[in-house]
Amino acid sequence: MKARDLGPALEWASAQSARLLSDGSSLELKLHQLHFVEILQKGDKNEAIKHARTYLAPFASVHKVEIQKLMACLLWAGRLEQSPYAELLSPSHWENMIEEVSQQFCSLMGQSHASPLSVVISAGVQGLPTLLKMASVMAAKGQEWQAMKQLPVPVDLGRELQFHSIFVCPVLREQGNDENPPMLMPCGHVLSKQSIVKLSKSNTRAFKCPYCPLEATVTQCKQLHF
Ligand SMILES: [Zn+2]
Repeated sequence: MKARDLGPALEWASAQSARLLSDGSSLELKLHQLHFVEILQKGDKNEAIKHARTYLAPFASVHKVEIQKLMACLLWAGRLEQSPYAELLSPSHWENMIEEVSQQFCSLMGQSHASPLSVVISAGVQGLPTLLKMASVMAAKGQEWQAMKQLPVPVDLGRELQFHSIFVCPVLREQGNDENPPMLMPCGHVLSKQSIVKLSKSNTRAFKCPYCPLEATVTQCKQLHF
């Protein structure tokens, strides 16, 4: 794609068509759109219509608006840069598509798109001001923050750096761990295992959920993994 050749990317996307769709990705359509625009920019309307009928038509029911836009582009064949759709030709549009293909490729391979080292460094840089402040406050109180199991303050890293959810038991107000995992009650509420054992008086009786009127027994509760 960097050499303006869509062939290999299109071939890959069509081979992975079903997986891309189940991932909620419209990458295959986007690549065909790009191809359509390339054909059109060479001024070949008939070839563009043929391409649209073969490759874009199957997406018409779900992506009507995008396809309507492309059909309007037919009026501007060979001079798309003067049309309201000039952004389809922009180098940044290509750049974004290259990025999207590489992201989807990594995602289908089960690999992270960003380098783990750069993820760690950017998380460190974002968290540093809070950590420095906390370290100086704790040093003033004569406490050692490195000896703590859990940071006493939250470090907000933004959504792009959040990978794994954590569970905090609403009864104990403690983070779940291997010894005290989150448990799903039949009503749909989740408590830590310790809280459930406590509420059920050591597994002996049904207990009421602290958050709704439903009752549960220990055997009905299932451990959650995330
Ligand atoms: Zn409940």
